[in-house]
Amino acid sequence: MFKKILIANRGEIALRIQRTCQEMGIKTVIVHSEIDRNTKCVKLADESVCIGLDKPIFSYMNIPAIISAAEITNAEAIHPGYGFLSENSNFAECTEKSGFIFIGPHSSSIRMMSNKLSAKQIMTEMNIPCVPGFNKKLSKNPQEIINIARTIGYPIIIKSSGGAGGRGMRVIYNENDIVNAVNITKSEAESTFGNSEVYIEKYLENPRHIEIQILCDKYKNAIWLGERDCSMQRRHQKLIEEAPATGISRKIIEKIAELCINACKKINYYSAGTFEFLYENGSFYFIEMNTRIQVEHPVTEFITGVDIIKEQIRIAAGKRLEYNQKDIILKGHAIECRINAEDPFRFMPSSGCIQNWHSPGGAGIRIDSHIYSGYYVPSVYDSMIGKIITYGLTREQAICRMKIALSEIIIEGINTNIPLHKKLMIDDNFIRGEISINYLKKILFKN
Ligand code: ADP
Repeated sequence: MFKKILIANRGEIALRIQRTCQEMGIKTVIVHSEIDRNTKCVKLADESVCIGLDKPIFSYMNIPAIISAAEITNAEAIHPGYGFLSENSNFAECTEKSGFIFIGPHSSSIRMMSNKLSAKQIMTEMNIPCVPGFNKKLSKNPQEIINIARTIGYPIIIKSSGGAGGRGMRVIYNENDIVNAVNITKSEAESTFGNSEVYIEKYLENPRHIEIQILCDKYKNAIWLGERDCSMQRRHQKLIEEAPATGISRKIIEKIAELCINACKKINYYSAGTFEFLYENGSFYFIEMNTRIQVEHPVTEFITGVDIIKEQIRIAAGKRLEYNQKDIILKGHAIECRINAEDPFRFMPSSGCIQNWHSPGGAGIRIDSHIYSGYYVPSVYDSMIGKIITYGLTREQAICRMKIALSEIIIEGINTNIPLHKKLMIDDNFIRGEISINYLKKILFKN
């Protein structure tokens, strides 16, 4: 097993990785920006290296600085967390070529999946059902674009092949807008993701977002750890996630999961990964694969008892999976609320000093957060400052415990979305599990 791992991330996920390393007896090195000098994970790490200025491009996205930090500290492996460089195949490749182990899949798997269009092409070959659409690069010819969209049928969605974080997508309801919209999405994609490639697929009007968590080792052993429902989204970004998904037959889920496992074996995928699907009228449609740990992984950890970060580390170190599929028994229900530093209903980011922080507690309540009283929430990073995850034997109990946690938590000095979560936990449709990717928008519109 590794003796020392470098964590190339910040905030709650850096702390989360650090805790598992400690449990496994592995020393940690944390790299950080100037402004993150006093954060909890820096204080708790065995070693820390300041790698640059606050803007991610100078620090958390700075590949040479991260590799140099691994060299001077004699770390053996690098965990990228989520966001930043976690799905950057060049970073994974540089890590491998510099003689370190990347805690994630091989750079070639990341390359394959980080382009959403090529991921769809591969999944189609693997018999995984995808959202209907035109699975090729779009031509520049306006008439051809119009014809393709006509064949798919409106509404359609234009998506950037290199898109992420819910950005780089545009929904089109009629033919008059299509050519212009393709051009705008292309130029936005070029400036945001450095890749102007876009593709089009059918826009599903009221699906749920359901994803399958998988784990594979380097010896073609692959298992799945149940599914998650991440339909509670705003602007294509997840806000509440839960496991398992309610109201979907286990048979249908098992069938799709089986296809995911087989695909992983065929493409020699290893590490943790998530197959994301839209689910509508009893059918699953693949949208993309995430080749990293996800924000919402704790709900799966609660219902399976598996520490997914520990498995990522073990797999990277060349160990075989500790579990067979029959060892994975889904028990109970878990819900996660993402706590964002923002206005709860207008969503303006809120930075500043946290004057008072009180963490909730009790049975079935897990808080993953790096904040503390006196912590300054910087404006340069993502607004998520933590997650509350609750577990219950039933969904009702998980919701009830979430209500308790939300009533106990105190964060003063900045705005957070806690009032919105409180409202959602008593919403009748949410309680009945009658949700889709559009449900949150509907509620917000009513206010
Ligand atoms: P990202 O990588 O940016 O998160 P995804 O492809 O995973 O993008 O899609 C994010 C969200 O966008 C989905 O959960 C869903 O809400 C919406 N979405 C994506 N594709 C479609 C589609 N074809 N129809 C309807 N909604 C879609």
